[in-house]
Parts: sequence; structure tokens; C-alpha cells
Amino acid sequence: MNSNNSSVSKFEQVRAEQLEYNAKREKGYREQALKLFPWICGRCTREFDRKNLSELTVHHVDHDHSNNLSDGSNWELLCIYCHDEEHTKFENLVRYGSTKATEIKAASYNPFADLRAKMDEQK
Ligand SMILES: [Zn+2]
Ligand SMILES: [Zn+2]
Repeated sequence: MNSNNSSVSKFEQVRAEQLEYNAKREKGYREQALKLFPWICGRCTREFDRKNLSELTVHHVDHDHSNNLSDGSNWELLCIYCHDEEHTKFENLVRYGSTKATEIKAASYNPFADLRAKMDEQK
């Protein structure tokens, strides 16, 4: 029982250190990204200021959080909603390949989606 308890607390300690390390790293690249880019969501183009800046997040384009290039080429500023969506899309892609839901969403970014729908109607 005792040894069990101590291994749990050791685990908790390692986990806390990892979380602290992640938090520090995140704060570092977040500040850099916010200096580099205008405070606008890259998807819905919502604008941010100091009051709601906490809702603007830094997304890693290649989904690798340790890949923090100083020129910012692996970062993208996204609002929490678009960021969520981006990760859901990515997870679906990894887990199931492409899904119907993501295909429909992807099509809405296509400027010719309307045109295609019209052509489909004419068939
Ligand atoms: Zn957004
Ligand atoms: Zn992300």
C-alpha cells in the first residue's frame, strides 16, 4: 500500500513537471507568435484585442508542438473554436482517414463549391 502510494505521487510529480514544462514552452511560442502575427483568427478572421486575447490560440500547422520555427512558419493563430475544429479534422483524418463531416466542411472553403452544386443540379 505504502509503496503504491509513493509510486503514484512520483508519477504525479513527473506529470506536474511535464505540465509545467509544456506550459512554459507554450507561453514562449505563444508570445512569439502574437508578436509576429496580427491578432486575427486565420479561419474565421475574427479580430482580437487584449480583452479577449485568451481566446486566440497558437496552432501548429504540422501538429508538432515541438516544431517551433522562429520565423513562425509552423504557427497559425486561430480562435478557440476554429482551433478545435482544426484538431477534430486532423484527428478524424488520422483515425478514420477522411470522414463525411470533414469533407463537407472542407468543401465550404472551396470558392467553387456553389458552382459545383449548381452543375450537380443540372444533371
Ligand atoms: Zn476562428
Ligand atoms: Zn493546434
